[in-house]
Amino acid sequence: MTTIIDGKQLSQQIRAEVAEAVKAITTAGQKQPGLAVIIVGDNKASRVYVNSKKKACEEAGIYSREITLDGETTQAGLLEEIRQLNQDPQIHGILLQLPLPSHLDESEALQTIDPHKDVDGFHPINVGYLHLGVDTFVPCTPLGVMEMLKRYNIPLEGKTALVVGRSNIVGKPMAALLTKANATVTVAHSRTRDLPALIGNADILVAGLGKPEFVKGEWVKPGSVVIDVGINSVDDASAPRGYRLVGDVEYEPAAQRAAFITPVPGGVGPMTIAMLLANTLKAKQKFA
Ligand code: NDP
Repeated sequence: MTTIIDGKQLSQQIRAEVAEAVKAITTAGQKQPGLAVIIVGDNKASRVYVNSKKKACEEAGIYSREITLDGETTQAGLLEEIRQLNQDPQIHGILLQLPLPSHLDESEALQTIDPHKDVDGFHPINVGYLHLGVDTFVPCTPLGVMEMLKRYNIPLEGKTALVVGRSNIVGKPMAALLTKANATVTVAHSRTRDLPALIGNADILVAGLGKPEFVKGEWVKPGSVVIDVGINSVDDASAPRGYRLVGDVEYEPAAQRAAFITPVPGGVGPMTIAMLLANTLKAKQKFA
């Protein structure tokens, strides 16, 4: 029988745990954890993400501050804003909402964030620590995947794991975390040959390639664990809003073969914000 990994329920549990820890901190007379989110310009999707992050912070008792910069902001202006937040004792986590307008240098901006406040885990120092196996801030989506595997008691040691995708946000940190957990990890990307054969050999499959239902159910190894990171919107005239969300894996046929599978929506997606709250709490506890 297939177990559906319920990311929605799990994320609520984690958010409640964070809220409880925050309450204990403030009851002890300490400052509440604080998260600053910088958003540059007027990107609709970014606005939706920022609003849901703000709401999640409020619910967990985390102080949140949104800094909205004009789309014409200069690189110097953005860096100055980050430096001020680096010095601000009320702020323990800084998140730069990506993508930035094309005239801005994303890499330089991310490197300006104090690594102790880098709750997204994108600073090269934290990326380096992750690959050295040192406890650090880890990007929220792969961290959420690891938390799912842990809380569903899925053993990783000695298992063959395939990560499809090698982005800095999903694929690369995911592969590092699975390696640290003693899985035998392969990373596939757009130039990989014979993806179906690699998938057919994977005890753990993490799909993060951003292509709707690209991974066919029949490729999946029977009895395996399928983690679908993809979130893709596809037109569907019969859906209430004219579109529906699907993952990178063909869900129904994959679910028939897998032992564990994450749905889309309601799988990995909700875990990402929960882990952002957890990372902000960690920043306060570890470095404040
Ligand atoms: P990117 O576009 O940055 O990376 C996609 C990766 O997939 C690349 O490494 C690319 O290879 C690889 N790829 C593309 N086509 C193929 C193919 N045919 N076969 C094998 N590999 C392929 O995407 P992200 O990593 O940012 O996101 C991936 C997905 O995860 C998206 O659907 C996104 O919406 C979702 N996502 C979900 C989050 C969540 O909270 N659940 C958070 C972040 C992302 P190459 O390097 O060769 O180009």
